[in-house]
Amino acid sequence: MPGTAPLPKGRIEIDFERCKACELCIPACPKNCIEMGTGTNRQGFAAAVFARPGDCTGCAVCAECCPDVCIQVWR
Ligand code: SF4
Ligand code: SF4
Repeated sequence: MPGTAPLPKGRIEIDFERCKACELCIPACPKNCIEMGTGTNRQGFAAAVFARPGDCTGCAVCAECCPDVCIQVWR
């Protein structure tokens, strides 16, 4: 519909408990959707968070670069 904002094409979920806060996914995302969070998981790491869901294209670059396989992608 003209004038309607396009729906996000992708969605990710970051496994809060598995994330080791290596930060590799942050610069990897071409849409700058991921940021480091403030909560600490059981391993003692401030896990990454999906900060800008509206911009995600579902390209899966973040999931491919995560050494701990914490990111799941839907598109
Ligand atoms: S799927 Fe692509 S656009 Fe979405 S968060 Fe991951 S790297 Fe960014
Ligand atoms: S690449 Fe994986 S382990 Fe590293 S900060 Fe991102 S989600 Fe966490």
